[in-house]
Amino acid sequence: MDYRIGQGWDRHRLAAGRRLVLGGVEIAAPVGFVAHSDGDVLLHALCDALLGACALGDIGAHFPDTDPAWKGMDSRRFVAEVLAQVNAAGWSLVNLDGTIVAETVRIAPHREAIRESLAGLVGLPKDRVSLKAKTAEGTDAVGRGEAMDAQVVVLVSRGEDRGSGGSGR
Ligand code: MG
Repeated sequence: MDYRIGQGWDRHRLAAGRRLVLGGVEIAAPVGFVAHSDGDVLLHALCDALLGACALGDIGAHFPDTDPAWKGMDSRRFVAEVLAQVNAAGWSLVNLDGTIVAETVRIAPHREAIRESLAGLVGLPKDRVSLKAKTAEGTDAVGRGEAMDAQVVVLVSRGEDRGSGGSGR
């Protein structure tokens, strides 16, 4: 079995009166993302992690923000298209681990809904989908509530499990 790790990071600006969508879940909040698509930083970081693991480029190359086709796009479609390419290259997602860095929007009350959404999107059981939340402790643009960050790490595998049966897998 061949394994690869990928990491992704994204940041979008926040402004009053915009939609806030994280992991495909719409969250009621006084601020939302300023972005060409729906601005879902968590799904954008997931796409980059998947593409990175398979050395398939980055989300900007696949879905350029200069292309009107992606304006207001539901980012779940980006994930579906990226996952299709990853699978076409023979890779399967093993697990994902995400972190959201947000100052003024509390993520914890939405954590389970977001995990369930992510699990459904990538076709994994929930115990392989982790989501953590932090603040920026009042520092930098995220800490001032001007932006939100997300980071995602994924593991993908390809090929036969050649273990002799003693690997415990
Ligand atoms: Mg983005």
